[in-house]
Amino acid sequence: KLYNQVQDLKGSIRVYCRVRPFLPGQVSSCAVGSIDEGNITIITPSKSGKEGRKTFSFNKVFGPSATQDEVFLDTQPLIRSVLDGYNVCIFAYGQTGSGKTYTMSGPKNMTEQTQGVNYRALSDLFKLAEQRKGAFIYDIAVQMIEIYNEQVRDLLNGLNVPDASLVCVASTMDVMELMNVGQKNRAVGATALNDRSSRSHSCLTVHVQGRDLTSGTILRGCMHLVDLAGSERVDKSEVTGERLKEAQHINKSLSALGDVIASLAQKSAHVPYRNSKLTQLLQDSLGGQAKTLMFVHISPESDALGESISTLKFAERVS
Ligand code: ADP
Ligand code: MG
Repeated sequence: KLYNQVQDLKGSIRVYCRVRPFLPGQVSSCAVGSIDEGNITIITPSKSGKEGRKTFSFNKVFGPSATQDEVFLDTQPLIRSVLDGYNVCIFAYGQTGSGKTYTMSGPKNMTEQTQGVNYRALSDLFKLAEQRKGAFIYDIAVQMIEIYNEQVRDLLNGLNVPDASLVCVASTMDVMELMNVGQKNRAVGATALNDRSSRSHSCLTVHVQGRDLTSGTILRGCMHLVDLAGSERVDKSEVTGERLKEAQHINKSLSALGDVIASLAQKSAHVPYRNSKLTQLLQDSLGGQAKTLMFVHISPESDALGESISTLKFAERVS
């Protein structure tokens, strides 16, 4: 008997919006008018000086005071379904500085409370696997890759390879160690002025294989946890050379991802997986029985209004 914990997931695509708090020392007016369960209202200035308001609706909206714990609670059923043999993709989308890495990995000076989705997900899978020990035996292995300029790099050994190394993990300690290795390898090639992490996609993949001890049946599930490149539009007149190339690759891959999810949401017959490295790699986990969760991140300040609106429009299109 499967412990199917996903009945509460109506569709196979969910979109959660998260608004980060103002950062210490940040002085700006706020572009977010109100937030309730699933709606977020954005305040837009108009030419006449009168404020305009636009409301966007999602499966859930997390305001600035939402904790990592609260965010994880609403993600947990999806994560647990991996143990029942489902494939899952979780994406963090948003402009640079909006909180993608905070949601997925956590902040720089991490505490137990501020651990992100990645660590909590693995730790929850270990806990559940332990609880089911009498009925199932699970093997869990992880991969970490980075996609930069449409090239895939293995973050666990630092090489450019077609097949990233798969490492078996047995505890959250193992996971912590691997994440540190991945983080270090990710920093290679980045300088203070050239924070490559905001212009590459990073993906932690968890492979789970479960054997039903009574029937001998093997279940396989796979989860991709993706911290996407920053979605901000760069001014083409200001960027040249390497930066322009990066910007074009990011543009292309984020719109390819949007196209794939939008066509899945609309149940269209053709899903354009081939248009980017990211969607090619995730093809088996996008669509069909697979489940997708997109976290879209919003910076609250008025200066970010333009980007916030394009983020919310992207999110509306895929939901
Ligand atoms: P991104 O990965 O989208 O570029 P970050 O996750 O690095 O953005 O967040 C930018 C800054 O804001 C970081 O200093 C981060 O710690 C902080 N931050 C983001 N989200 C939150 C949050 N929900 N609560 C507190 N601080 C946050
Ligand atoms: Mg980041």
